[in-house]
Amino acid sequence: MMKNLVFLGAPGAGKGTQAKRISEKYGIPHISTGDILRANIKEGTELGKLAKSYIDKGLLVPDEVIVKVMDARLKEADCKNGYLLDGFPRTIEQAKALDKITNVTLAINIAVDSDAVVARIAGRRMCVCGESYHVSTHPSDVCDKCGAKLYQRDDDKEETVKARLEVYEKQTAPLIEYYSAKGVLKDVDGMKDVAEVTDEIIKVIDGNR
Ligand code: AMP
Repeated sequence: MMKNLVFLGAPGAGKGTQAKRISEKYGIPHISTGDILRANIKEGTELGKLAKSYIDKGLLVPDEVIVKVMDARLKEADCKNGYLLDGFPRTIEQAKALDKITNVTLAINIAVDSDAVVARIAGRRMCVCGESYHVSTHPSDVCDKCGAKLYQRDDDKEETVKARLEVYEKQTAPLIEYYSAKGVLKDVDGMKDVAEVTDEIIKVIDGNR
């Protein structure tokens, strides 16, 4: 069965962390729209400049911009045998556009308590290599994988997080119902330990749950 996977979940639910592990296990590309946009910001591209003005406010980048980027990305050769989308779609409009490009075989909703999300994001630290950590479980300020100094995402600061959570509730949470209605939604409990959540997701993907 094709593994055309979508990860859903609030900011801080652990989508990126889990997506990294799952994409390695199944040998499918991990496609994160947030990572793509941040790379563009770093390189100073036109897309990056446009995206930054929205990201800094905790708002979503316009659907047509994101859909264009993802349409091109999903046509690349490495997506032939499946893919894992992390952070896309984020609106019903994006989900409808995605349905025109490809068929999603499974949408996994990583469910977390809203209180936990705020604490997780406040303590989140990132590395340029793509790793992410939390101050409570990783007190060091350098990356275990590459040794670079960790940093806090600008949009992980408290003022922006509030806006992102509101945007999630209003624009992204309706996707749970959207994929549920298509019969491809599975929930996993994102409050468990990282490794336990990974195991749950693997069970779901392998059809054992
Ligand atoms: P993330 O790393 O997934 O939390 O994304 C960081 C920010 O990038 C979001 O808060 C949005 O501003 C923007 N972004 C990422 N993915 C999308 C998307 N699918 N649609 C619109 N904006 C997005």
